[in-house]
Amino acid sequence: MAAAQTLITAGFTNTKVIESGSKTGGRVMPVPVPGGDGQSSFDLSVQRLVKDSPLYVIAQAQNLLAPPTTVTTLAATKSYYSTANGCPLNKDLIDALESFADAVAQQVSTLAAQASTTDSAGMIYQKAFASYLQQNPTIVDPSSRFYQAMFDLERKAYEYTNGASDWNRVSAKQINNFKDARPSEMLNKNGFQGILNYYISQIGQANILLNTQVTQISYVDDAKVRLMFANNQVMDCDFVLVTIPLGLLKKNGPTLFNPPLPPATTALINNLGCDPTDTFVLIYDKPFWPKDMNALNLLRVKDDPWNCKVYNYQETEVSKTIWYLEPHPYQPNAIIGYIGGGMDPAYFESASSEAIMNASTNILKMFMSNKSIPYPKSLIRSSNGVDQNIVCSASYYTTECDKSGASCDRSQLENPIMINKAGVATPAIYIAGEAADGNGFGKANGAVASGIRVAKAIMAA
Ligand SMILES: Cc1cc2nc3c(=O)[nH]c(=O)nc-3n(C[C@H](O)[C@H](O)[C@H](O)COP(=O)(O)OP(=O)(O)OC[C@H]3O[C@@H](n4cnc5c(N)ncnc54)[C@H](O)[C@@H]3O)c2cc1C
Repeated sequence: MAAAQTLITAGFTNTKVIESGSKTGGRVMPVPVPGGDGQSSFDLSVQRLVKDSPLYVIAQAQNLLAPPTTVTTLAATKSYYSTANGCPLNKDLIDALESFADAVAQQVSTLAAQASTTDSAGMIYQKAFASYLQQNPTIVDPSSRFYQAMFDLERKAYEYTNGASDWNRVSAKQINNFKDARPSEMLNKNGFQGILNYYISQIGQANILLNTQVTQISYVDDAKVRLMFANNQVMDCDFVLVTIPLGLLKKNGPTLFNPPLPPATTALINNLGCDPTDTFVLIYDKPFWPKDMNALNLLRVKDDPWNCKVYNYQETEVSKTIWYLEPHPYQPNAIIGYIGGGMDPAYFESASSEAIMNASTNILKMFMSNKSIPYPKSLIRSSNGVDQNIVCSASYYTTECDKSGASCDRSQLENPIMINKAGVATPAIYIAGEAADGNGFGKANGAVASGIRVAKAIMAA
């Protein structure tokens, strides 16, 4: 969308966005609030924007950012920590666990800078954890169980935000490469839909072809690039910019391009990782959680020494995939839930909505130590693993790439594929998207940066 807007604004008016789904936005997933005012939405992925990025600038101009007071209020609110036996933690233990998490994070950064090319992010975290325990010998059982549970929570958070993969598959170099120190700000209740509406108005609805799946991209010398669609229609183009998710490039790349992509591009696509994860929203008649709660951290402490159980709870395969719940940042009656990275989302995606609502209600009863937690009114959920337009969430560097000695320079994805026109090598096909951006990969601002960069390359070609 950002690439199309850049081209059209620069006068390249014969630009079309080809979208296989029934809506624009891809992995950015605003879903209208059921029974809402038609403007409000739940975002199943991006909710905050990196300050001063192009998306932030659009959101600011379109009045789509939450008022600064909300940010202050959020900062003043609390993360609630509760154990698997339903016991809330006292302030001293929370402070100790949070300073433990900070210490591990700092140590991780130092260790990652010295990592060997075969180290995974998981190995670095394990080393930092072990070193923390060694330096703090007063931490002995039973309290180290809390540290282990906190460490497990950190792992799930790391995996969720770093491509949803098992952190033993994620390269250690991801740790320091993934840092964008710029603060981010919250969208308002119009969510990301407002930004998509802005792009649609700039591009023109008529230039966006929905429900149009590209099944083949053929390129031969002295000809235009031919797109074949699932309905057997074709479109001939001077330039084609491919922004499908990395997971689909992996899965469909061999049949999508004719002739196949150059071997170095295929190797790079295969050497980067991208796995699916999911988000869901539980909708209630009214909030039942404390006003100052901004997160419920589920510490699954083994053999929790206390027992505050008010509710007899058995983990199920579905409930095990849920790592974190938070009151929705800008929709008052909703809780947003996250599936742990590194978890196979297949359990979650194959479960019925009723099973997810049951599992979530049971988790809330248990971890909030309150058996009168209501059953949600409804559920909204993503199915990124089985969605044929998505398949993966956010790309990451793999240890396989490091070990193979091959280039893992993702910016090479943007190198054009050339065809020979009247004896002159001419750029014809480009790849862009989050996976191609070395600074913002995995993120919407990375996708936008890559799209704008390639649009400018097309304009200059
Ligand atoms: C659960 C989740 C949470 C996330 N959280 C955040 C977050 O908090 N912050 C953040 O910045 N980012 C987040 N992301 C990542 C962010 O959404 C992506 O990085 C970004 O949207 C990628 O944009 P893209 O343009 O590269 O690809 P996409 O948004 O995936 O766009 C690719 C488009 O190609 C279309 N397509 C696929 N195949 C075909 C075909 N054959 N023919 C035609 N069209 C096709 C798809 O339908 C899709 O619209 C999250 C993602 C997920 C899944």
